[in-house]
Amino acid sequence: MTVEFFREEPTARTSWRLAVLMGANVRTYKFALGEALLGAAAQGQGDILLKDLAGPYAMSLVEHLAQAPQASPKVVAAGADFLAVAREEAAESMRFGGPTEKLLAAAMKSMPAMVMRKFHRLRGDGGAEVPHRFYEVTGPARERVIRLTGPLLEVALSEQRPSLLAELAARWGIVEMSFAAGVGRSLVEEGVAVDLETLRITDKERRRPVAGVTEAVIGFQHGRCGICGDPLILGVDEIAVDHVFPYSFRRLMPAIDLDAIWNLAPAHRPCNAQKSNRPPTPGQLTRLAMRNEAIMLSPHPLKRTLQLTLKRHGFRDGWWHFIQGVRDQLG
Ligand SMILES: [Zn+2]
Repeated sequence: MTVEFFREEPTARTSWRLAVLMGANVRTYKFALGEALLGAAAQGQGDILLKDLAGPYAMSLVEHLAQAPQASPKVVAAGADFLAVAREEAAESMRFGGPTEKLLAAAMKSMPAMVMRKFHRLRGDGGAEVPHRFYEVTGPARERVIRLTGPLLEVALSEQRPSLLAELAARWGIVEMSFAAGVGRSLVEEGVAVDLETLRITDKERRRPVAGVTEAVIGFQHGRCGICGDPLILGVDEIAVDHVFPYSFRRLMPAIDLDAIWNLAPAHRPCNAQKSNRPPTPGQLTRLAMRNEAIMLSPHPLKRTLQLTLKRHGFRDGWWHFIQGVRDQLG
């Protein structure tokens, strides 16, 4: 299935999205590394010292630790765990505005051994990796050098850079939320809710906003408008969240929740205004089905929300059938 997502748009950017959006995460290290890599590559450098990547990496984990758990409750932390060091050094690092010596050393030790080995790996798939490599670890153990590759520079300098940063942050927030759900696990069992007024995904139990709908799903539609298919650049284009099957159709299909994630797709505001209450075109339905299939590759809880929609309506065969079924109700 990840193969299909890549085939829709076989670029370095899609490999990046496979790595960042579709992994199974028990810790959030990948997101901190992704953010640090985008930051380093944006400066256009080819080689950097591990130290210079480890600083931003460690600091962004420390900042996130202050807000939410960074590991699944299923993970039993050992004493040598990098997060244990990060917790101990957090207060001083924040005060200092940069990592303490101990924190930096711990990051430099753990990164090449752990997160940098796993970043390119696809979930499941017995050791398979995403089609592009974004860095190579070189140099002697005492002074590791990170070679930032062409594909990474291409991704970091692409016009979609603001979207990539926003979707990474959204995914990070969603994963944190699933860690915080803890023993009750209601979130993991019941999926997420959407607050239509603010267009944010919320934690059902605690009614807490977690990420914008746009930021949370845009990566799964390759950063493109759900209506015209052209790139949709966060922070540049005016964006609306389109009800693919218009909300006004609720009278025709009262049993189906049209306000849920499955039916919401970010679009250019002008495209959305022009579409108005018209039924979706075949192209829009195809894009929606592919987008939803892509979300199904991304572990809880966004995926869970979609699974529940399918289950509620007795569908097992995925989004093509479900969406066609809804379309057929329009006559
Ligand atoms: Zn558009």
